Amino acid sequence: MDHYKAEYIWVDGTEPTAKLRSKTKIVPVGEEPPIWGFDGSSTNQATGEASDCVLQPVHSIDDPLRDEGDKLVMCEVLLSDMSPHPTNTRRACAEVAERFVGLGMIFGIEQEYTFFKGARPLGFPAEGGYPAPQGGYYCGVGDDEVFGREVVEEHLSVCLEAGLLISGINAEVMPGQWEFQVGPLATPRIADELWLARWLLYRVGEDFDISATLDAKPARGDWNGAGAHTNFSTKAMRESYPPILAAIEALKGKHDLHIANYGAGIEERLTGLHETASYKEFKYGVSDRGASIRIPWQVERDQKGYLEDRRPNANMDPYVVTRLILDSVGSAVA
Ligand code: ADP
Ligand code: MN
Ligand code: MN
Ligand code: MN
Repeated sequence: MDHYKAEYIWVDGTEPTAKLRSKTKIVPVGEEPPIWGFDGSSTNQATGEASDCVLQPVHSIDDPLRDEGDKLVMCEVLLSDMSPHPTNTRRACAEVAERFVGLGMIFGIEQEYTFFKGARPLGFPAEGGYPAPQGGYYCGVGDDEVFGREVVEEHLSVCLEAGLLISGINAEVMPGQWEFQVGPLATPRIADELWLARWLLYRVGEDFDISATLDAKPARGDWNGAGAHTNFSTKAMRESYPPILAAIEALKGKHDLHIANYGAGIEERLTGLHETASYKEFKYGVSDRGASIRIPWQVERDQKGYLEDRRPNANMDPYVVTRLILDSVGSAVA
């Protein structure tokens, strides 16, 4: 073969929650994926008269769905003068990462999501009505409690085959809701890998006629929302306890800024019910799943480790969330 297929993947300009887009370029074997372009007027990134946007490859992995040698190519979006597009949140993330590289900050993100079949969550009766109340679904087993495992298994396999650092999966509290975890990794790599894993989730779903959504509150009523708990640690936090308490204080001082940037519809998810703290207050505690920030029990026991920021929505932008945590914690301890 004298060429390979490169699937260029980028984050678009849809508001309030950006979507993934992708298209294929045929590239000669032995060459890196070059800079490319697209029609920004079709992705909420440009007007029709000045529609050209630029795709700058930033992180390539093996494409586990096509043939040997084919690639998935995560891209930044640039304007035609090569400056970052206003919707490009990765560039600011990479700059903050560079500024605080000495902290040794790493992130592990728990991505929750919900499968849909037509207009209803998978596992909800298609004809209307509701499944049995929450209780048996979380980490469940059996045809009456688990919906979509065939997609989840395929997604896990292809992510690992592509070389993404997935650390686990589980069925969630609401039927049809699942989670995968990425990391721990530094940013922006963690965010690149999460966007690529999200793309693979949607793409694998196509083959099963099942869609996935990152909607933070996909079912009204007494059903859990979907979050993206963001676990993080600096080198100092991994070595002793006072830096862990300092990180909590730093996040407390920037609570409103973080809430405003942790995903659309966060007020509907962070109600104080369904394993959340209200968005109106900042709470932390050991093992507390009703807190904004949870200190895992082993971390208190060992007096070192990491923290879990439970506030981010499933539909958050990981370039934004990891940048904010790094900036807030880094600025306070620097
Ligand atoms: P939960 O009990 O909240 O469901 P999970 O097992 O789903 O926890 O996720 C824990 C996450 O914490 C994983 O993504 C893992 O990579 C991450 N993690 C573990 N140790 C660290 C660390 N030292 N720094 C950052 N993240 C970490
Ligand atoms: Mn989890
Ligand atoms: Mn979860
Ligand atoms: Mn969690």
